[in-house]
Amino acid sequence: MHVSVALFTADLRLNDHPPLRAAVDAADAVVPLFVRDRAVESAGFAPPNRRAFLDACLADLDAGLRERGGRLVLRSGDFVEQVCRVVTEADADEVHMAAGHSGFAVRREERLRSALEASGRRLFVHDAVTVAVPPGTVTPSSSDHFAVFTPYYRQWARVPLRPVAAAPRRVPVPDPVRGEEIARGAVSGTSPGLPAGGERAARDQAAAYWRDGLDDYDTVHDDLAADATSRFSAHLHFGTLSPAELVHRARRHGGAGAEAFVRQLAWRDFHRQVLAARPGAARDDYRSKGDRWRTRRTAADEIDAWCEGRTGYPVIDAAMRQLRHEGWMHNRARLLTASFLAKTLYVDWRVGADHFLHWLVDGDVANNQLNWQWMAGTGTDTRPNRVLNPVTQSKKYDPDGAYVRRWVPELADVAAPLIHEPWKLSGLDRAGLDYPDPIVELADGLDRFRRARRKQP
Ligand SMILES: Cc1cc2nc3c(=O)[nH]c(=O)nc-3n(C[C@H](O)[C@H](O)[C@H](O)COP(=O)(O)OP(=O)(O)OC[C@H]3O[C@@H](n4cnc5c(N)ncnc54)[C@H](O)[C@@H]3O)c2cc1C
Repeated sequence: MHVSVALFTADLRLNDHPPLRAAVDAADAVVPLFVRDRAVESAGFAPPNRRAFLDACLADLDAGLRERGGRLVLRSGDFVEQVCRVVTEADADEVHMAAGHSGFAVRREERLRSALEASGRRLFVHDAVTVAVPPGTVTPSSSDHFAVFTPYYRQWARVPLRPVAAAPRRVPVPDPVRGEEIARGAVSGTSPGLPAGGERAARDQAAAYWRDGLDDYDTVHDDLAADATSRFSAHLHFGTLSPAELVHRARRHGGAGAEAFVRQLAWRDFHRQVLAARPGAARDDYRSKGDRWRTRRTAADEIDAWCEGRTGYPVIDAAMRQLRHEGWMHNRARLLTASFLAKTLYVDWRVGADHFLHWLVDGDVANNQLNWQWMAGTGTDTRPNRVLNPVTQSKKYDPDGAYVRRWVPELADVAAPLIHEPWKLSGLDRAGLDYPDPIVELADGLDRFRRARRKQP
């Protein structure tokens, strides 16, 4: 009997899953396997929100496999050791998995390949599973990756995508291979407003978005209060939605909304091709500006105020409270809070990136670190010294103050436009508010940042 292993990583779905299809087509029986990698957990990369979402994804994947006559085999420990153990127990001939793009994923894949080959087994790594267009597919003539988005996007948009792969009808699993119980209990320390994980929830959400959301994406995606973006990010991070399938679907739908949405998916691939070429950018400046950032040692009070949503700037505080409550934040709010920390407070972008990674259910090395670098001016932004003003941005993207009011109840009774700058309220009105004064004057922050950047080597 020919046995294969379908090894799931950041692709926890049955639809449009080339490694699973290939594993099913190649063999008489398949072991669908997920390994809780001890290295991921000990690096702190599985905080409560993502842990809870992951558990829901695994339970749903198991349920989907059971409907197809199979089940998910779950193991924990050293990734390579556990895969090799399952391969031996099942007497499998080959393993199929999706390509990863971080330094960690690539090293892990190489270790696995050597271990499998040493015992005469083969590893097949499938591209275009966790991205629509794999890193390296398009490159400029002078470099191994694009450092600027617009020319990247022009080429990305012309790449023919592979067709969508249907979910297999049956997944027969060999009997002797056993796994751990799949956790279904609550995880402590999670955000109260966490979204539902799993492929079924993802596909329901997507169906609703194609029907009611996509057409307006281009006009409303920056409107903080409308909250009208897709919220697919956690599903894309865990792979309960396929980026290639989303691009096909949106292009079929057509129109300006769909086009703008596809462009955002290209941003996701863009950051992955940067990280694949420069894995060190997960921690180090992609383009150093010689910054001598303030850190927790020198700016502890301001960092705490930012983390806890009490900076005295309503839109910043609203966003930081949304992050804790939902494990998610609107993209415009991510830009504003990142600019505020890295530029107005001149705090090391890694402090903010770590805080985001703790709370974000979509917390993702490529998207998080490289968007932080973009906003800190050490990444791929062609205007690295731009500073976003939280007052003018809040007036523009939340004109009625509805987003602020939703997350900062202390300001619920303040009308726009003063809700964006409550320190301008007159005497008694200001005195009646239980809301802090700004922790920094914007002009002072701007001045400090400009002076620091002028000193760059
Ligand atoms: C400081 C900062 C940190 C961020 N951290 C993360 C992160 O950890 N994980 C994450 O998935 N996104 C991150 N983003 C990108 C973006 O904010 C989120 O992907 C988006 O807000 C998710 O909401 P949505 O699914 O409704 O997006 P939509 O607007 O509906 O976009 C659809 C999809 O396109 C992708 N996308 C959208 N904007 C971007 C972008 N700027 N860069 C890369 N991909 C994008 C996402 O996969 C998203 O789900 C970050 C942005 C900033 C400025």
